[in-house]
Order: sequence, then structure tokens, then C-alpha cells
Amino acid sequence: MIYLDSNATTCVAPEVLEAMLPFLRDQFVNPSASYKAARSARRAVEQAREQVAALIGARSEEIVFTSCGTEGINAVHASVRALWPERRRLIIGATEHAAVLESAERWRQSGGEAVVAPVDRNGVIDLTALRALLAESPTALVSIMWANNETGVVAPMMEIVNAAHEAGAQVHADAVQAAGKLPVHVERIPVDYLSLSGHKMHAPKGVGALFVSRRMRFQPLLVGGGQEGGRRGGTENVAGIVAMGMAAAAMTRALVDGTEAAVRAMRDRFEAALQTRLPKVVMNAAAAPRLGTTSSVTFPGVDAAGLLILLDKAGVACSAGSACHSASLHPSHVLEAMGLDTAHAGSTLRFSWSRFNTVEETDSAVEAVARAVTRMRELAAG
Ligand code: PLP
Repeated sequence: MIYLDSNATTCVAPEVLEAMLPFLRDQFVNPSASYKAARSARRAVEQAREQVAALIGARSEEIVFTSCGTEGINAVHASVRALWPERRRLIIGATEHAAVLESAERWRQSGGEAVVAPVDRNGVIDLTALRALLAESPTALVSIMWANNETGVVAPMMEIVNAAHEAGAQVHADAVQAAGKLPVHVERIPVDYLSLSGHKMHAPKGVGALFVSRRMRFQPLLVGGGQEGGRRGGTENVAGIVAMGMAAAAMTRALVDGTEAAVRAMRDRFEAALQTRLPKVVMNAAAAPRLGTTSSVTFPGVDAAGLLILLDKAGVACSAGSACHSASLHPSHVLEAMGLDTAHAGSTLRFSWSRFNTVEETDSAVEAVARAVTRMRELAAG
């Protein structure tokens, strides 16, 4: 299989698997116990905390381990409700992940007010509209993704933070797709909360992390045994946490050692080749700052669901819209928010790379896509 769906989930890196295995075998102890083996598990958790902190320029005590990105997002949205009734507004972006969209819906149902900041044709948050929404009503939280899972579009995070803070609002960044793929530094761009997910960065599913700035008062979503400094109850997933630390360390290196650039080069090669091989293909958000891992391609006149089936047969794994809910194959709300009509949104596939892909795979994927699209267009033309 040529796996071009790393925005959906990534493979577990070999060194990450090696690092976590001892904690599933003989070092299975509870890190809160009092014996020597437990102290060693505790040290492993704390080392992972430092590694995750280093990836985003945080202090280790600002990192709370969670079960996934979704948990971090829900925890922040729930905690910030402490600002009600003085500040009841939540502002989210139009292209947020379902975790933010659904959590905003819950905010609304519980008596808060959730509003949506639009994006432009390139998928970039409209800062003028955001400032207007902030001026309209006292806002508790601006919750915006740092990078989009479908298009890779990178948000103007510094401007968003400045606008929100000037209006007295707090900022949560969903950095599930951004971390490790572009420089994310919480001191330079002082977001108040930031969510991360292990399985998007070559750790396994079932672990995530939440950055909570030391400036913030945080109400835990899960209460229990007081783990994570009382910020997230529940016995620590030591193996997962160790994996996340190891994965974060590798991502920190990948940002500076040319790996990120090599991945971006594969993506660019793919897009350039498709444009020469096929008439009428559109690279969505190509004019916006984008992650180097992601390509959202519209093949006008071609049904994305059919194309997915042909590509699957040819051994290429990619997705239509957001893979997290692509089984439903609804037109993507991300593409619609960018002004694509239903027909174009329904002719769009997402391809996403990681450092485990190769140039050869990329070239084979171009062949497969070009063949499948040509065949579908010929059939449609009769
Ligand atoms: N936010 C974004 C941008 C995502 O892409 C995803 C997963 O696809 C999530 C949040 C949810 O992360 P998790 O699967 O770890 O809950």
C-alpha cells in the first residue's frame, strides 16, 4: 500500500515502538506506586513531558497528558466556561475539526453563545471578521486550528492571539496537525492552551497532550486520583506517554534536519506532476501558507467516492475530505467554507505525506491518480 493519509493517522515510528514496549512488558507498574520500579516509570513519564514541552517551546509543568486531541479540546472548552456569565462567547473558525465544532455545539446547548469566524477563498481566517466578532460581545475563548487537516492551511496565529488578547479573550490552538510540521512555539506565539495528538505524530492512538499556560486557571475535565498535577485524573498511560515523548523528540529534530523540507518536496513534486499529467486539476489553498505534508486536489467532473475506490484498488490510500468522518462522504464543510460548490467539493481528494513516504511512492501515486482520473473522465464522456 502507498499510504498517503498521514493526516488521518500516522504509522508508529520504529524507535517509538521500541521505546514504549518495555512499559507494556516488565515495566508495567503504576507510576504513582512507591517502589523503585514505579519511580523509574515516573521518571519516564517526566522525561516524555520534557520532550513534548520542547516540541512547542513550553515548560514541562505546562504539559498535561490526555488520551487524544479531542479530549484536550473538550477539556479546554469545558474549563473556560468558568468565565460565564461575564464572558459567554466562544469564537471558532469555519473550518475547524469536528471535535471543535461539536464542542461548540455543546457550549451553545449549555447556554453559551458560539459564533463562527469565516475564512477567505484560500481557507485563511478573516481577521477583520474575527475582530468584529470580538468587539461585539465579551468573549471567553477563541478556539482556532493552527493548521487545517483537509487543506494544510496554516492560520495567522500571532494575529489571532493579539486580537483575542486585546479583547480580553483566551486562545486555544488546535495544533493536532501543526505540531512537528511547522515551528509551533508557545512563548513566541503566546496561546493559552494548545492541543496535541499522539497518533498524528508517529506515536500510537490513545495518547495526546494539552498545553495549559502557567498563566491560566484550569478546571480538569476528568477528576479522580489527582494525576497530572490534579489536571487530569486517571492512571497514566505510561507506554503511550513514553511513545508520545519519543515521537515529539523525533518531530523536533525533523523540523531542523531537512526532513520537513524533504516531505514538502515530495508533496510539491506530486502536485507539479499531476498538473502536467492532467488537464483541469485544482490545488486547493495553494496560494495560502500550507503544511508541506498536505495536498487537497479537486478533479472537476470526477466523483471523489468513485476515484477513492479506483485508487484503493490500485493500492493508494488517501481520503475524501476529513478521514475522521469520510465514511459519510458528506461534502466537506472546509471546502464549502472556502467557497467551493458542492460539485467541486465532491470531486476533491486529500493526500497527506509523512517522513516515512518516499519519492518512488510519490511517483507511483501520480501514475495511479492520473490513470484513474483519465479513465473516469473517459467513461463520463461516453
Ligand atoms: N483536530 C484536528 C485538526 C484533527 O485533524 C484531529 C484528528 O483528525 C483532531 C483534532 C482529533 O484528534 P484525535 O483523533 O487525537 O482525537
